[in-house]
Amino acid sequence: MRCLVCNNEYTGAECPFCKFPNVQINGDYDEGIKQLMPMINTHRQNFFGSFTVGLVLLRRINDNSGSPQATSQTVSFGQIKTLINSTKWLDQQIVAYPNSDHQIEMSIELDRLYEKTNLPVAIRGFSNPDIVNIGIQVTDEYSFKILARNMNQTIKGESDLIRL
Ligand SMILES: [Zn+2]
Repeated sequence: MRCLVCNNEYTGAECPFCKFPNVQINGDYDEGIKQLMPMINTHRQNFFGSFTVGLVLLRRINDNSGSPQATSQTVSFGQIKTLINSTKWLDQQIVAYPNSDHQIEMSIELDRLYEKTNLPVAIRGFSNPDIVNIGIQVTDEYSFKILARNMNQTIKGESDLIRL
């Protein structure tokens, strides 16, 4: 079954990506689609309109209990739909510590109509710790990259293309 809303290929009672039900069309296909169109359009608008991405910021705080506690906070880039073909930078600057593969590892949060999921992201191109500013470059409703630039606003690294 190919989802009528997001084109995802799947088997089962509903699309695992956008949750639109698996609708069987009996009789004339074109007429059936025509009947379903208002429902398809409403679901599409709700689903893609609600899709936001945020960066999970981790910090350690000392609450005087003896051991530092890790806390996280999510800073939102906003709705994917409003960012297509553009790049948006967050105001926060973070200290990035690369791993031995010269990558900075972070986590982003995807917030869709029905659920929140966390996704690990690695940004390549770092040999030393640096103060960076994180951005998102959105290609279309389904794909984006996470970028990092330094204080001189030079882009230092990027993640692989993330396809949803
Ligand atoms: Zn779908």
